[in-house]
Amino acid sequence: MNKTVICPGSFDPVTLGHIDVITRASKMFDRVIVGVLVNTAKKPCFSTQERMELLTESVNGLDNVEVVSFDGLLAEYCKKHGIDAVVRGLRAMSDFEYEFQMAITNKRLNPGLETIFLTADSDSMYLSSSMVREVGSMGGDISNFVPECVHDKIVERISKKKQTA
Ligand code: ADP
Repeated sequence: MNKTVICPGSFDPVTLGHIDVITRASKMFDRVIVGVLVNTAKKPCFSTQERMELLTESVNGLDNVEVVSFDGLLAEYCKKHGIDAVVRGLRAMSDFEYEFQMAITNKRLNPGLETIFLTADSDSMYLSSSMVREVGSMGGDISNFVPECVHDKIVERISKKKQTA
């Protein structure tokens, strides 16, 4: 059966933790949509366009993965685009309560929509976009945290942001 899933998130910016989850999902499902949330609760550091470009470059080579942006309710987006399930990464127990609440809410809004959790890889479970931004803005080495192909762009962008802040 043809299964389409979505990996939604802010991706502000993409990290190796995101890529781990997306890569694993691409092996399990026929089509993986990476959904970049336009209006995140937190004001993003990287624009929607930038977040999409960095992701698109990072998933190059994963043939069944595409990057889109979306706004509004995830449950509605999935209904409209025939998406079967949401895939989310779980780093720690602290992620669980919020994720569980979101999964139940999404199912109430769209009863056909499942949520699938992938446990974070032990190598990248400590990674978050905010940590990348924080370390990067203080001039720290983020090469173990972000995909190599977009490392320089992320460093350049974070340092530019710091200068204008
Ligand atoms: P959000 O703001 O919606 O949590 P993120 O960009 O922080 O968006 O994360 C997008 C998805 O990637 C979420 O499912 C999140 O749990 C997962 N994720 C983030 N970092 C990691 C990581 N280091 N390992 C595994 N999954 C992760």
